[in-house]
Amino acid sequence: MNFIDEEIKRLKEVGLYNNIRTIESPQGAWIVVDGKKVLNLCSNNYLGLAGEKRLVDGAKKYMDMYGAGPGAVRSIAGTMSFHVELEKKISEFKQTEATLSLQSGFVANQAVIPSIVSAKEDAVFTDELNHASIIDGVRLSKAQRFIYKHNDPESLEEKLKEAKDVKNKLIITDGVFSMDGDIAPLKEICDLAEKYGAMTMVDDAHGEGVLGDHGRGIAHHLGVHGRIDFEVGTLSKAFGIVGGFVSGKQKVIDFLKQKARPFLFSSAVTPADAGASIEAINIMTESDERVKKLWENTNHFKAGMKKLGFDTGISETPITPVMLGEAHVAQEFSKKLFEKGIFAMSIGFPTVPRGKARIRVMISSSHSIEDLDFALKVFEETGKELNIIK
Ligand SMILES: *Cc1c(COP(=O)(O)O)cnc(C)c1O
Repeated sequence: MNFIDEEIKRLKEVGLYNNIRTIESPQGAWIVVDGKKVLNLCSNNYLGLAGEKRLVDGAKKYMDMYGAGPGAVRSIAGTMSFHVELEKKISEFKQTEATLSLQSGFVANQAVIPSIVSAKEDAVFTDELNHASIIDGVRLSKAQRFIYKHNDPESLEEKLKEAKDVKNKLIITDGVFSMDGDIAPLKEICDLAEKYGAMTMVDDAHGEGVLGDHGRGIAHHLGVHGRIDFEVGTLSKAFGIVGGFVSGKQKVIDFLKQKARPFLFSSAVTPADAGASIEAINIMTESDERVKKLWENTNHFKAGMKKLGFDTGISETPITPVMLGEAHVAQEFSKKLFEKGIFAMSIGFPTVPRGKARIRVMISSSHSIEDLDFALKVFEETGKELNIIK
């Protein structure tokens, strides 16, 4: 196993070895990491729901009602009424006909893609910057692959023209791209899908809870609701728990229940997950206060960073990349932030291209304006120390 030692050594030398820190408190604006209280700027807990008492109570209630686990895969004897209730709840929130609940957002992509386009005569059109779980989902399919330029409808159209004599066509894109925070041109994608007879699939992991009325997601935000055939989502980000799903037409969900291997061969979420998820959706449906606060915080922080002279890329969402170039600079920056009381991880290759290392700041509605002003002050200090800003 020498290759393991060698690769670990190499990763450390080039500054790409990820030292994973352990969080010792519940998720929230401030957390305890390695015994130290720090401001949390890197969770996907957009709406502060992960540590919310109502979710914890929901989880306890469902455990009291249904026990600890489902006991079998759903297709054999593990579909319980809370699974069905959760699916109904998600459909209501997303305003779609039906939903299939899965174990995670990652798994949802493995469930949908190879079930919908499976044969050599099929074709999949995928954005070059799509999430790893989409890439892996595509790898599980025998369909022909066409990778189009990031967020570029012209490139997509070229690929659609190239793919003659194929049977089923599926266009797949992230809704919000998680590293840069930019959003997919869904209207143009839907128009092309109609023109070329393709199906559409959007993974809205970073759009739910963030974009659209009450955080219903990117399809609502861009006015293409009803034109997306497969809306994949996660309960692990803004919703604050864990789990994934796909929403769409009833017949699509019926079909996936017959075909999707992660549904057929892997057990489903637990009563606690479902109870907490249902409560999260209740909170989001009742009020859009958290979504509004998230955007207020985002605008405040981004404006502050721009004023200081940082390059925050092309983000259109609360994801705020602070571009630093080389991976070792980003690691050093992150280390200094931590010493000064801020938890914000550096991200380098292969998660982002070489030379585009960054600190990715994730804004949450649970931050106060004072928290963000503290962050701006520490970024200013650190940026000057490392000669990133003047
Ligand atoms: C985070 C993410 C996932 C994975 O979601 P999990 O529920 O954590 O598995 C899938 N797709 C995209 C686009 C993501 O950002």
